[in-house]
Amino acid sequence: MKAAPKAAALSQSELTARAARALPETDPVLYALLDAEVRYQNDTLAMVAHASLADPSVLACGAAALSNVTAEGYPGDRYHPGCAWLDEVESLAVDRAKAAFRARYANVQPHSCSSANLAVLFALLRPGDPVLGLDLDAGGHLTHGSPASVVGRYFTPVAYGVGPGGLIDYDQVRDLALRHRPKVLIAGASAYPRTLDYAAFRAIADEAGAYLLADISHIAGLVAGGVHPSPIDHAHITTTSTYKQLGGPRGGLILMGRDSESRQDLVKLMQRAVFPRSQGTLNPAGVAAKARALDLVARPEFAALARRIAADAAALADALAGNGHRVVTGGTDTHMVLLDLSGHGLTGAAAEQALESCGILANRNRVPGDRLPARVTSGLRLGTNILAQRGLTPEDMHRCADLVCRVLKATKALPGTGFEVDPGVRAQVSAEVADLCAAFPISAYAG
Ligand SMILES: *Cc1c(COP(=O)(O)O)cnc(C)c1O
Repeated sequence: MKAAPKAAALSQSELTARAARALPETDPVLYALLDAEVRYQNDTLAMVAHASLADPSVLACGAAALSNVTAEGYPGDRYHPGCAWLDEVESLAVDRAKAAFRARYANVQPHSCSSANLAVLFALLRPGDPVLGLDLDAGGHLTHGSPASVVGRYFTPVAYGVGPGGLIDYDQVRDLALRHRPKVLIAGASAYPRTLDYAAFRAIADEAGAYLLADISHIAGLVAGGVHPSPIDHAHITTTSTYKQLGGPRGGLILMGRDSESRQDLVKLMQRAVFPRSQGTLNPAGVAAKARALDLVARPEFAALARRIAADAAALADALAGNGHRVVTGGTDTHMVLLDLSGHGLTGAAAEQALESCGILANRNRVPGDRLPARVTSGLRLGTNILAQRGLTPEDMHRCADLVCRVLKATKALPGTGFEVDPGVRAQVSAEVADLCAAFPISAYAG
């Protein structure tokens, strides 16, 4: 009898390529949407602070058949069979996370930075314990104690704010820490354009008997690239998202530095905090994509990109201020520029939508002392991650600022979140945005 021919499995790259090639025919409806998004990203001036572009190799890892593996636990200590290759992938991701951030411990399983923060806080705190973080209105994140998050409902949130100049007042942080004795002090922000002093935060945490959690979700690329001081050896624990500035997939990381050597109890607690306490199975292809992105993050080209991101933001802040806009804190040390539009009779919601209608993306954001609700806001948050990735330099920021300012000048805020833009300005700016995007295509996505 003749043996039936064996059908060899395709290689991972053949598998991905074949499926990607077939998708337009197998699911034209969905494919058209996905394809439109690629074009949209290339043709839109994304001046947002909360995103970056993933290298196509990172996107490809997310499509790996490794995704079919179900696993709980950690490499070498799983609750499921068949994890040999996944174990190696996860160990590689851990090694690369440690290398990229000069950390001594890394957990690459959190599905997001919110999940990472919840895992850490629920591990370190008991219900009702005080936790001290930056006020949401001053640029903090929901998971740092807002009543809108489970963190604010389950623990006792105490918030520090910013002074009249928009800067964190470390004396206020210390006063609150000594008065309320939080078990966790959080240093990190979603809308704070200035350098954070992690040594000062750690000194306060030590004096108050608190753990210091540094959340670098927004500035992880600047930290890895050496542009912003690193919290790794100051904080007990550091968390981050992997997609905001690292060009990675959706996901989060938990990192530890110096303290991991003397605090094996904390290391074990962080392992348990993610699995089994707050997550089930990991996302294997997502972990592979993190490993890929972190390899790129550790390279000199990434440090050069981080420097360009910060230089672009400084130039953008200058150009916007030169156009008569109020830049919160008067400038930036990071990738982020925060405008207070209240003096122009504009709302953040009107500005965001008016810009979007002209092909420019920047998001509404509350500013310190904001009197408008979160859906409306008085502020606009801009960022230079993607501009720098597209190759725009500080010299190009005048042009970007000019486009933004012309739209804002031609915008009227209507009641609530409504807006109106002068149609002539919209047509002119849209055409110039198209030209600019064509001159600076997303090179990694170009043909
Ligand atoms: C965006 C952000 C998060 C949440 O990140 P996700 O990965 O989207 O959950 C947490 N902390 C800070 C400071 C952030 O800016």
